[in-house]
Amino acid sequence: MNTVSKIQLSTAKLLINGEFVESKTQQWQDIVNPATQEVIGLVPFATPEEVQSAIASAKAAFASWRETPIQARMRIMLKLQELIRANAKKIAQVLTAEQGKTLADAEGDIQRGLEVVEHACSIGTLQMGEYTEGVARGVDTYTLQQPLGVCAGITPFNFPAMIPLWMFPMAIVCGNTFVLKPSEQDPLSTMMLVELAIEAGIPAGVLNVVHGGKEVVDALCTHQDIKAISFVGSTAVGTHVYNLAGQHGKRVQSMMGAKNHVVVMPDANKEQTLNAMVGAAFGAAGQRCMALSVAVMVGDSKHWINELVTKAKTLSVNAGHEPNTDIGPVISPRAKARVIDLINSGVEQGAELLLDGRDIQVKGYENGNFVGATVFSNVTTDMRIYKEEIFGPVLTILCVETLDEAIELVNANPFGNGVGLFTQSGAVARTFQNRIDIGQVGINIPIPVPVPFFSFTGSRGSKLGDLGPYGKQAVQFYTQTKTITSRWFEDSQEAGEVNTTISLR
Ligand code: NAD
Repeated sequence: MNTVSKIQLSTAKLLINGEFVESKTQQWQDIVNPATQEVIGLVPFATPEEVQSAIASAKAAFASWRETPIQARMRIMLKLQELIRANAKKIAQVLTAEQGKTLADAEGDIQRGLEVVEHACSIGTLQMGEYTEGVARGVDTYTLQQPLGVCAGITPFNFPAMIPLWMFPMAIVCGNTFVLKPSEQDPLSTMMLVELAIEAGIPAGVLNVVHGGKEVVDALCTHQDIKAISFVGSTAVGTHVYNLAGQHGKRVQSMMGAKNHVVVMPDANKEQTLNAMVGAAFGAAGQRCMALSVAVMVGDSKHWINELVTKAKTLSVNAGHEPNTDIGPVISPRAKARVIDLINSGVEQGAELLLDGRDIQVKGYENGNFVGATVFSNVTTDMRIYKEEIFGPVLTILCVETLDEAIELVNANPFGNGVGLFTQSGAVARTFQNRIDIGQVGINIPIPVPVPFFSFTGSRGSKLGDLGPYGKQAVQFYTQTKTITSRWFEDSQEAGEVNTTISLR
């Protein structure tokens, strides 16, 4: 953490009541290019007063925003999707510079978020209530899906475009106002999207941004005027946020860490399977919550391991903006040290290191936080590399004899974000999808992230709270169902008598 009195570099601004303002804090953190260690910006840790005024401006704006016609809210989203599309390449460059992923992957990060904004344009039908006429004589029942008030979002470093876009567009289009707390490690691309949201016509106070770490997050989780918190990040922090915000009466969704398996049946198409596995394990340097981290080879598919390693060796490790890069750097020297420590533990605990990415040197980027593709076989479930989320380009391989054993293994793992199955048998796929206890299942798909008209449905240890981000579940999360039961008397109807028993209808 730096304490600087005079800011000279480009700084991440706060957004409070429609104004992009420079924080008055004394606490600033460098935003560092992970390929070079070059400082490309500074992020403030907002003061308690600044957090307070962001929440106050969101609270004040709610009164008129909730009354804004749904078509007007929708048109802002239509404009926002157009602006994001037009600026995607520019944002991707900043995203790669601050996050490290390849330019193509940065564009994918933006595209996935853009699809949520596109879906937000359907809010007219998504936020409809229900109506039943005649539940008793002259009585009708109907529901309203009403916005909650001020909602807040706390986002991780690994998808600085997609994950903020999972949150604020859906919350706002439902009629809420919002306070966003982006990752302090790479907030610049998130801020470019926020600027576009303001340009698209989001009124002052409806969207606000504060930067910071634990103190700011805790202030959001405990503030009486915040009604709901969306969190995406690590399991430890997500659990803390869920508990703290829950104790303060808020609706909370916490999407957290993972350990995603693929199960490979011997009848699978070998080439397609191995290509998919290598992409899913090492893409984005393994820093995806849905990255493949454990391969479970069933029966004779264990004979494919050498070919998998051969393919992994062909991946090019380089800075994300360099052409043909497959694996960029991990986010920070600290993250790299953690990944290396876990690889070391795998060696010490007796796993077989088939491909070692620890000592990779990248010409021209000697200071980058690079880890090359790493593959372990002979892994057992008691090893740290199996139990802990590595969040780096490390694939661990276990071999079993039957599908039943594979299902049992996956279901015994505490995490539940995603799982893949590779097979050519429909019957095997159907058994698997029925019995596997993981919230998102890919059949011949290694990273089964649902499109935004479904919802992100990670489960078990990867999630706290019932409703997931985006899609119909997000509409439920960001609205309160109000059920109206109404009776209208006709003039001719008799008034009847006082009745003290519960009605039999
Ligand atoms: P992180 O938990 O360190 O940070 C997430 C957010 O919490 C950041 O905004 C950060 O400022 C804040 N934070 C950090 N420490 C805090 C503390 N002690 N108290 C309160 N707030 C704190 O996560 P990260 O490293 O940025 O992101 C990587 C993690 O996110 C991985 O575990 C990954 O699996 C997970 N992730 C999950 C999903 C999902 O949908 N399940 C998606 C993306 C990432």
